[in-house]
Amino acid sequence: MRLTRYFLPVLKETPAEAKIVSHRLMLRAGMIRQASAGIYSWLPLGYKVLRKIEAIVHQEQQRAGAIPVLMPTIQSADLWRRSGRYEAYGPEMLRITDRHGREMLYGPTNEEQITEMFQAYCGSWRDLPKNLYHIQWKFRDEVRPRFGIMRGREFLMKDAYSFDLDREGATRSYNQMLVAYLRTFERLGLKAVPMRAESGPIGGDLAHEFLILAETGESEVFLDRDLVELSLGERAIDYDDAAQLQEIFDQWTGSYARTDDTHDQALFEAQVPEARRVTARGIEVGHIFYFGTKYSEPLGATVTTREGDKVAVHSGSYGIGVSRLVGAIIEASHDDKGIVWPESVTPFQAGLVNLKQGDAATDAACEALYGKLAAAGLEVLYDDRDVRAGAKFATMELIGLPWRLTVGPRGLKSGTVELTARRGGATEELSPEAAVARLAQIYRGL
Ligand code: ATP
Ligand code: MG
Repeated sequence: MRLTRYFLPVLKETPAEAKIVSHRLMLRAGMIRQASAGIYSWLPLGYKVLRKIEAIVHQEQQRAGAIPVLMPTIQSADLWRRSGRYEAYGPEMLRITDRHGREMLYGPTNEEQITEMFQAYCGSWRDLPKNLYHIQWKFRDEVRPRFGIMRGREFLMKDAYSFDLDREGATRSYNQMLVAYLRTFERLGLKAVPMRAESGPIGGDLAHEFLILAETGESEVFLDRDLVELSLGERAIDYDDAAQLQEIFDQWTGSYARTDDTHDQALFEAQVPEARRVTARGIEVGHIFYFGTKYSEPLGATVTTREGDKVAVHSGSYGIGVSRLVGAIIEASHDDKGIVWPESVTPFQAGLVNLKQGDAATDAACEALYGKLAAAGLEVLYDDRDVRAGAKFATMELIGLPWRLTVGPRGLKSGTVELTARRGGATEELSPEAAVARLAQIYRGL
């Protein structure tokens, strides 16, 4: 993409309304534009990142066995009356009346809708287990929308819903999602820790929030230093292997690795030696939840068991804040010059800076390199503006592309271009061919 043909409305000034760094940087880098309180348009750069995060979430959900669907944003109030949540949900739910006087709502979540869908088609133990998910916009009329897209009113969520015959099956589905989340967040370049959460009406400990550690996090957390260092790394996961899933679950959530919220501080102190205790702030990016038969009973989602009995199915729901993640990644990865994107979600894989726009030889060298990068399948933002080099560098640093290629008359004399890492700033001089090969190597498999 040539910058002169792109739509990248970067701001020089720091917007006064933005209280946290990710919000400031998203506005300055021209990623989002507020439409009204808590509601945003995604500008090209922001939209690209959102789509990349979404793609990784899709891949890891499907690897874990979840099946993609797409449910509507607008739901019927009657369905929610049947589960008893229409009244219970309160003012966060945006209620709408259509022209025929029918009560509708803009979905804040989809348990009712998916359970209704499930019961319409599934009636036997043979239909189980199933895990269906979608990535769809939600609306919650938050009292205090803030921090840009981090706490919006309209936001993009991945929500998956599992259906199992019994608690044992549901536990396995839960563990599949827990492990899929660990992998997803690692691929996004994030350190996310599962933290035991309030589990609502069911009790037990099958509810976890995934938190990214960042100073601007809304919740205070206590955790074991060892947990912060845990990683799935290259470990091969077999999502059909319940024992392996349970082992990973235990490793990440069992005693000593346990993280706890303020309510369980005493328990935390009993379990984790002082030297390993860490207090931090966290941003919630995911929530997994086992709720048994809470929705299947009122909505009639039953199956016939092998023995011929009729039982309500056991369900769980599993959310990821896809749009919130854009901000959360920036909170976790930036410096005083701007964003530092992880390679897996960067809007462009490299920036190309022409140091002497209008100089025939430099322009030709840039064009040739731009062509080679495209041929190697790399997505490049070519800054072909007629502005000084300093302004081009500042833009590249602000928008956070992990790699920058710089082409100027001096290097060209010796047949080289510069390849600079956004993180750390190390620069190498390479032939254009070697630079393309390096980048292709870096992005292989991502
Ligand atoms: P929070 O405590 O932050 O309000 P929640 O517990 O209400 O979150 P869930 O219902 O579990 O959230 O939704 C799943 C995920 O959706 C959350 O983990 C979060 O990442 C994201 N999310 C929830 N509310 C918002 C919002 N207002 N704006 C952006 N993302 C959100
Ligand atoms: Mg909420």
